[in-house]
Amino acid sequence: MSALLWAVLVITPPPPQSVVIATPRGETSVPVTTERGTAAVAASQVASPLGLTLALDGSRVTVGLSGVVFIFQLGAPFVRAGGVVYGLVGEPYVARDTVFLPLHWLADCVPRALGGRYRWEPASAGDLGRLVELPVASAVAATAPPSAPVPHGPPAAPNPITGLRLRHTVVIDPGHGGVDPGNPGRYFPSHLVEKDITLAVGRLLRAELVRRGIGAALTRSIDTLIDLADRGGFCKADCDLFVSIHVNAMPDGRRADRVSGVETYFLSDAKTEDQQRVAQMENEVIRFETGTSSAATGPLGFILRDLQLNEYLRESAQLARLVQDSTARIHPGGDRGVQQAGFTVLTTARRPAILVETGFATNRTDGAFLASSLGQHKIASAIADGIVAYLLEFERKLAIAAPARGR
Ligand SMILES: [Zn+2]
Repeated sequence: MSALLWAVLVITPPPPQSVVIATPRGETSVPVTTERGTAAVAASQVASPLGLTLALDGSRVTVGLSGVVFIFQLGAPFVRAGGVVYGLVGEPYVARDTVFLPLHWLADCVPRALGGRYRWEPASAGDLGRLVELPVASAVAATAPPSAPVPHGPPAAPNPITGLRLRHTVVIDPGHGGVDPGNPGRYFPSHLVEKDITLAVGRLLRAELVRRGIGAALTRSIDTLIDLADRGGFCKADCDLFVSIHVNAMPDGRRADRVSGVETYFLSDAKTEDQQRVAQMENEVIRFETGTSSAATGPLGFILRDLQLNEYLRESAQLARLVQDSTARIHPGGDRGVQQAGFTVLTTARRPAILVETGFATNRTDGAFLASSLGQHKIASAIADGIVAYLLEFERKLAIAAPARGR
């Protein structure tokens, strides 16, 4: 009896944590480990099914896959492929003489860097997800047309305006839109509401970033409503940062007019009553939305969402600080500092993400500033300067983590 019980215990291990690599040559199940806190796979175990090459040179890990070279640095949550740098959830490490690579690289970076060649499919019954190698014919069909931008080359000379060396792309999210007007704006001219101000500032911010040599895209460029849970989803592929633009408001009351200034939020649990007020106000747009959103589902989606919150929190906080410093310098309403709150719009962004409350529509001075062309230009330019400051720090950290060799 006890021998039988022992046998049962031995042959029923916990449910396997694995991903499947499916190629025209067959399917391989690869175990996923979370021994270092983030999900990782042994490079040796994905090498043969994918046909990738692996080289470890000091702390530098070079992986070749289908003609693309990925360069990792042990202990650094980044990977470089061509001139593009991808943030990683987790860091490559060596254990038991084996190189482990973040699962995030396999699930996210590989399909992004080799879009026509690999596709990631979310979890099914027995696994955490599948990396599917597409047949060559469909890979050719999926290849971008010749008119598409040329793949990015090696790091260029620094941009003369900003000093940035790498190509960056920022997704700008003008808050609200369409049937969701945002806050009514007591001190805006009569026809204006929050959604108009956020769109105007968002467009100007895009122009300011492009002027600084930074790629920029808007989640909306017209007066339309985008599902809150989908807004962050615009930040993928080459997107480095996600910046949501809003206008604050105080609830009616004796002191409502007195509160003014700019504040910048990054994601976390709302801590104070005031932070909760803002989070609740901006999240309320959910009531306008219909249908389903494309948020990731299944165990892997959950794991990645959970991990990315921790991983990007520090980066988001730093981005928030630099943008806040820059905007507070030009804002007539004063500096309300960096804040933390739980915003749905930020949780779905997969990169460092912030939300800028550009001032109070319930304050006369702020309202006039935000409604004026000069004020909107100043805000947009200051946010762009904060973003550049952050990206310069990011590139410096990267250069320390992965020094350029043989140049
Ligand atoms: Zn808002």
